[in-house]
Amino acid sequence: MRQFDYVRAADLGDAVRALSGGAKLLAGGTTLYDLMKLRIEQPEHIVDINHLSELKRFDTSGSSELVFGALSRMSDVAANPLLIRDYPAISESLWRAASQQLRNMASLGGNLLQRTRCPYFRGGEPYACNKREPGSGCAAIEGLDRGQALLGMSHACSAVYPGDFAIALIAFDARVDLIGPRGERTISVEQLHREPGETPHIETTLGPDEIIVRIRVPVTQLGRASTYLKIRDRESYAFALASAAVALEMDGDMVRDARVALGGLATRPWRARGTERKLIGGPLNEQTARDAGEAALEGAAPGHSNAFRIELGIRTVAEALMTARKRGLTS
Ligand SMILES: Cc1cc2nc3c(=O)[nH]c(=O)nc-3n(C[C@H](O)[C@H](O)[C@H](O)COP(=O)(O)OP(=O)(O)OC[C@H]3O[C@@H](n4cnc5c(N)ncnc54)[C@H](O)[C@@H]3O)c2cc1C
Repeated sequence: MRQFDYVRAADLGDAVRALSGGAKLLAGGTTLYDLMKLRIEQPEHIVDINHLSELKRFDTSGSSELVFGALSRMSDVAANPLLIRDYPAISESLWRAASQQLRNMASLGGNLLQRTRCPYFRGGEPYACNKREPGSGCAAIEGLDRGQALLGMSHACSAVYPGDFAIALIAFDARVDLIGPRGERTISVEQLHREPGETPHIETTLGPDEIIVRIRVPVTQLGRASTYLKIRDRESYAFALASAAVALEMDGDMVRDARVALGGLATRPWRARGTERKLIGGPLNEQTARDAGEAALEGAAPGHSNAFRIELGIRTVAEALMTARKRGLTS
């Protein structure tokens, strides 16, 4: 492993200055250290942000928004009683990620910025990977593509965005507050991740010298009738083959408002707005839930061996909708 130096940031300004000098931030380290061992990340300077109190605020008591500091740990947020009751999709997206040990270490900011688990990206030589080495090609296109994306790919990359939490966040129109050398700005979580296009190595709209300070989720009636359904090869400690975050506001059997977002199937967290429009104003039953699933996967382009995940995605959306509906009836 390449040598690096390690410092603790004394305050946010300190961390921003260090980033401008080419350092990498260290939160829980569960992604960063992995990528360093794989030689995908080779920082010369590491700045530990774990002592910055500005990043630790975790407040679900507000009347207009929930606030999760970037350093909030996955396990603490997943176990929050208010979230379990009023925003189960958020809590479930965290419970169903990684393992308890990882969730105890891992931060929400680091979770949003985790990188793809594409085996060609992580495998390195002799595999070509435009994300790892721009211009080198994409071995997945002619290679093993069981786990590759079906939505949002380009000829340069089909790597899936692997995280769960971001899928629930985009369903609730969450935003992230950022700080950098030019000051503060706020963007939606949906704007944070990019499709690969011609530049798959540029994965987010975050500047190299910007820090995620906090995530803010607007308080909404849609929270209670929500769920995050994750389908994977084994029931624990595995990334999604297909997942859906769904939130509903029901009026009897009729859908007054709906949110649908997909995970595990696309190159970035994927909001299915056309599906939401189709659902709103109509009845929700087994058939319309299936129709909504089909609409969500419209345009999915299979490769050699991942076509089964289209049907899986359709069923995941349909089942999530029926679960959210049931929660809406009982809440
Ligand atoms: C075996 C394994 C299984 C996993 N399974 C899942 C899963 O099923 N679902 C899932 O969603 N995730 C899964 N993960 C990913 C895990 O959730 C992430 O590794 C974790 O959330 C990253 O958080 P961290 O605090 O450890 O980040 P770090 O490793 O410290 O940082 C990750 C990246 O984010 C940057 N960063 C961190 N904080 C900030 C900030 N505030 N501002 C700007 N940049 C920042 C770092 O510089 C680094 O580049 C798994 C990980 C492992 C190792």
